[in-house]
Amino acid sequence: MTTIDPRTLNTPPTFAAQWDAAAEAIAAANSILLVTHVNPDGDAIGSLLGLANALWARGKRVDAAVDGGVPPFLQFIPNSDLVNAALIAGGWDVMVSLDSSDESRTGECGIYGRAHSATVINLDHHPTNTGFGDIHLIVPSAVSAAEIVYEWLKRMGDPITPDIAVPLLTGLVTDTMGFRVSSVIPATLQIAQELIEAGASLSKIMARTLNSQEYVVVELWKRALPTVQLDQGVIHAEIRQQFIRELGLNEIPDIGLVSWLVSVNEAFVSAVFKEQPDNKVEISLRSKPGFDVSKVAFSLGGGGHKQASGATVSGTLEDVKARVLPLLYAAVRDGSPVL
Ligand code: 5GP
Ligand code: MN
Repeated sequence: MTTIDPRTLNTPPTFAAQWDAAAEAIAAANSILLVTHVNPDGDAIGSLLGLANALWARGKRVDAAVDGGVPPFLQFIPNSDLVNAALIAGGWDVMVSLDSSDESRTGECGIYGRAHSATVINLDHHPTNTGFGDIHLIVPSAVSAAEIVYEWLKRMGDPITPDIAVPLLTGLVTDTMGFRVSSVIPATLQIAQELIEAGASLSKIMARTLNSQEYVVVELWKRALPTVQLDQGVIHAEIRQQFIRELGLNEIPDIGLVSWLVSVNEAFVSAVFKEQPDNKVEISLRSKPGFDVSKVAFSLGGGGHKQASGATVSGTLEDVKARVLPLLYAAVRDGSPVL
């Protein structure tokens, strides 16, 4: 697997060959399928619809799909109503997997698509990407998958219209939590500037994503906060099925708790253990710069980035916590803060 920073001016021939192969595969394809990861976030839908809107503008036959469709808070993105919530028929020349570090992350849509597509392009920015597929646009230094889509479209000469700029800036804004993470460099802001100039409103995207929530989120915070504990530099909390039942929810929404917990000065790593109905626990991990939670997530069958990763593990809440907390204490011991 070859990876390179797209912002490096002289990309090695090996990686340039991947950009070219991907561009040629798209140009030659009569039918294209775009998929992204389950429980899609702003970067998943942003990279998916940024690329979809560009390829539709070319007149390509493109299907976009993610299990369950586009979540309501991202439905302000142009053409989000065209994204399929499931795939039951079809075959494609090329499938592009976006923002997904392994095949299982692409859910039922990805499994179906892979079985019915001749060539798979794997476009992602997770350092834990398994390298699946035939053509790899894997750029771990990119802050978001949307940024890689942007670089790729520029290379292919596609004009960046407002319908493309809005989803791509949404991916950039949400994966950087409003340009706050350590991987943001001047080039990130330059791309953001170009997307704003192309017609995306930064304030509207912020208002729809980072500065927007349902009241039920507050009710969930009220229940989760009493479970918070801080020990050995790890701050952690639980979201129990009981809370979900009490609030009449079908699933656990993303409430932003884990990202807030890692801002606590006395902590270096944060974790939220989300009890799932099927004897599984979904774990969300965050760390301060200088500490790496992606290795822990990967060792548990998940993945992500040094500062933000996750995994789903079998077992009861108590068993999973007993297994995972020592790994997080070790991640704290193995790191040192970067100021
Ligand atoms: P979150 O805590 O926001 O759900 O996820 C944080 C990061 O970890 C994201 O970059 C996400 O892609 C990654 N991640 C979360 N859960 C999983 C998982 O089960 N498998 C993999 N491969 N990555 C995950
Ligand atoms: Mn992403």
